Amino acid sequence: MTRDILVNVAYIGASILFILGLKMLGRQVTARRGNLLSAFGMLLAIMVTLLDRGIVSYTWILVGLAIGTAIGASCAGLVRMTAMPEMVALLNGFGGLASLLIGAAEFVRIRLGTVVPEQPAFTATAIALAVFIGGITFTGSLYAFAKLAEWLSGRPLLFPGQHAVNAGLLVIAATAGTVQAAGGDPQTVLIAFAALTALALLLGWMMVMPIGGGDMPVVISLLNSLSGLAGCAAGFVIRNNVLIVAGCLVGTSGMILSLIMCKAMNRSLRNVFFSGFGAKRRVAAGGEMTGELKPISAENSFAVLEAARQVVIIPGYGMAVSQAQHAVRELAELLEQNGAEVRFAIHPVAGRMPGHMNVLLAEANVPYEQLVEMDTVNPLMPTMDVAIVIGANDVVNPAAVRDPASPIFGMPIINAHEARTVICLKRGQGTGFSGLENQLFLLPNTRMLYGDAKASLQGVIGEFKSLAAG
Ligand code: NAP
Repeated sequence: MTRDILVNVAYIGASILFILGLKMLGRQVTARRGNLLSAFGMLLAIMVTLLDRGIVSYTWILVGLAIGTAIGASCAGLVRMTAMPEMVALLNGFGGLASLLIGAAEFVRIRLGTVVPEQPAFTATAIALAVFIGGITFTGSLYAFAKLAEWLSGRPLLFPGQHAVNAGLLVIAATAGTVQAAGGDPQTVLIAFAALTALALLLGWMMVMPIGGGDMPVVISLLNSLSGLAGCAAGFVIRNNVLIVAGCLVGTSGMILSLIMCKAMNRSLRNVFFSGFGAKRRVAAGGEMTGELKPISAENSFAVLEAARQVVIIPGYGMAVSQAQHAVRELAELLEQNGAEVRFAIHPVAGRMPGHMNVLLAEANVPYEQLVEMDTVNPLMPTMDVAIVIGANDVVNPAAVRDPASPIFGMPIINAHEARTVICLKRGQGTGFSGLENQLFLLPNTRMLYGDAKASLQGVIGEFKSLAAG
């Protein structure tokens, strides 16, 4: 009894650490400490669980720990920053698989009579939920991973009646789950459990299939939320309070993040999941792109920037691809030395995951105070001498505010087009992730600095340096 109380007190302590850690992640200055605090909470929870539970043998736990640590540590070192969304997708998937396996193991133990649950119907329902949500999370995450890693096409795969088929599968799975939870004839329960598992795995795949690559970050965030809910259900299966709390926290935070992303794109979750957004390549305003792209050289970009007093830098996914963040910081410093005021305008969904640009710029030691949010910078845009758009496309596409026919109409953007001069750094004619052409590139005040963003920036930096040397 005293042991139980001590364990639960430790679990409450761990849960408080999780919540405080999450709160501290909301601010850049406290984020690192928040992460450590949550990690410490998890360590406490694991230690207490290892001491508490009737562990038969530590051998398999140690083997799992050694393999997991080796894989985790090498991934942390090897995975490129641009591949982080794929990595998160895989981690979510394995979280879902773990919950599915916990549910399946408990199902087998109950059938073999190794354990007799206190409340059979409740435990059977929790098992059904852990297996169902865990299974969907596992295969859905694997599909999302394959799309993001470009192992599979990022295009949505739609076939006639697909949503009806998915709805049908969902109904059959719910029936199988109910039959399994209701108990009764062992043979029927076993068949229902097997059907539930297979349908969950199939549904995860089928539900992600019709969603375009551009929406994968939202899907991944939602799958993250599902992995939390599956963990929560697994917590009920094995009656582990800290797993229930941690699962709920992951479930709700993932859902909040998904909704924030949808809001930043002016889309609904329903639209993300069922519209097949990105199925076709599209052009912008009025259907046809008009005007011409006007290239500019590094020397001429330097001439424009040298005279500028107000400069705003708008980074996007291309900055991450070319790993140009250090060069961007160097250019910003040179501009400031030249007397310009420099701001970094950050769109909430620039890049491929929330906070993508903030992380990269922080890594390059760009002062946090220079980072300005979209709503703050937009009113200042007409006063900007130069807007430097670095590998950003959709987040500066004026079709979102000008063209009611555009699929991204209504999505908040950074109004780069309002700056006196816009210099866009990109490699060629590539569209944004939504597949839309961008009218910004054709405006009379826009110049295209073609090439890899890092190389282009280094070209401009070279000009600044040769001026200083000369
Ligand atoms: P984007 O629309 O994907 O455009 C990136 C641009 O970078 C492309 O036009 C590409 O053109 C250029 N580029 C690629 N590699 C480059 C390189 N090495 N050097 C220079 N340029 C390079 O990017 P974004 O404006 O950041 O928009 C993000 C998109 O992701 C939005 O559609 C958003 O809705 C979506 N999304 C993001 C999140 C999130 O959480 N961040 C979530 C959901 C959806 P070239 O090929 O011509 O070089």
